[in-house]
Amino acid sequence: MAEVILKNVSKIYDDNTKAVDNVTINIKDKEFVVLVGPSGCGKTTTLRMLAGLEDISEGEILIDGKIINDLPPKDRDIAMVFQNYALYPHMTVYENLAFGLKLRKFDKMEIEKRINEAARILGLEKYLNRKPKALSGGQRQRVAVGRAIVRNPKVFLFDEPLSNLDAKLRVQMRSEISRLHKELGATIVYVTHDQVEAMTMGDKIVVMKDGRVQQIDTPLNLYNKPVNKFVAEFIGSPSMNFIRGEILVENAQLFFQSALKNLTFLIPDRFKTPVIKHSIQQVWLGIRPEDIHLKTENSQTDNQVILESKIQLIEPLGNQTLVYSTFEDQQIISEHRGFLSSRKDATEQFLIDKNKIHFFDQETELRIETL
Ligand code: ATP
Repeated sequence: MAEVILKNVSKIYDDNTKAVDNVTINIKDKEFVVLVGPSGCGKTTTLRMLAGLEDISEGEILIDGKIINDLPPKDRDIAMVFQNYALYPHMTVYENLAFGLKLRKFDKMEIEKRINEAARILGLEKYLNRKPKALSGGQRQRVAVGRAIVRNPKVFLFDEPLSNLDAKLRVQMRSEISRLHKELGATIVYVTHDQVEAMTMGDKIVVMKDGRVQQIDTPLNLYNKPVNKFVAEFIGSPSMNFIRGEILVENAQLFFQSALKNLTFLIPDRFKTPVIKHSIQQVWLGIRPEDIHLKTENSQTDNQVILESKIQLIEPLGNQTLVYSTFEDQQIISEHRGFLSSRKDATEQFLIDKNKIHFFDQETELRIETL
């Protein structure tokens, strides 16, 4: 069992920087939780407080119901894998794996048993006598993970472990760490600034900004039901598009009208209650790139509205095409299957499906459907 709870945790550094602000996260036993957010949002500080490498200014951290605020790192039963691997260059892989166990006075047989098991899980058997400099980046990363595994900790912490690897290896290590999670049945807290990593690995994702938790949810819910504009923009690549506008009421019907009045349409009923209840007027219309389609003859359905947009750039990627265009003063990115022929500077008619749109209050940036 390893259930981890962060309860109203804050970190204020000596220079008064509030790096983490009143963060509460409940992590269940065997859960894979990813902390994600832009640089400086406080994810590493949160992880370091959990590991005991940083004092907690306010709040409590509990493991299996026990407050660990004042417990030294070595007594927390937590193993951390760092971004730079932190391997000892003069030691072999075997010695690197054994080091932490020797310090903890494990006997030789037990050390050997644990190292062999970790080497098997990670495919490192062949490299046990090599020094780190004779290993590839991916192999070094595996040794760093192995060092955590041999300790058989209650909780694994990963701090951007893949950021030094090239794109292909990152994808491979991503699935290896996911497999490892299943095989070990471990509780994992994983920090990354890469939303793709977060989406593909986490059971649960914590999106942070400026030291605060924005949303804690499953990958799919974050994508489909982001609580605010920041989450909507951060999760998904290319990002969600936003069009500035306002909501007008006419004859008891609600319309969206873009800032320069080039787009007006009746908005779906699902927005009615929150818009009226909170008297919302100024909004951002949000639409994901894959939900914008090129209009072909007679292809418009009742639920779709036309967006006329001027093409700036077309990026054919083989299996799909990204189209960058401008609508009023906003750039719009749309994603199309296969190859798409259009001309730069041409004005095209795109279709937006009303079932796929989001609205965000300009003032609070909250998603209107969630209100
Ligand atoms: P990154 O992805 O760049 O590593 P992060 O989300 O992990 O960012 P943190 O490293 O936790 O962010 O930093 C959060 C904030 O705390 C930042 O504004 C950072 O400048 C500040 N900070 C970090 N360490 C200290 C320190 N020792 N003293 C003062 N401020 C600090």
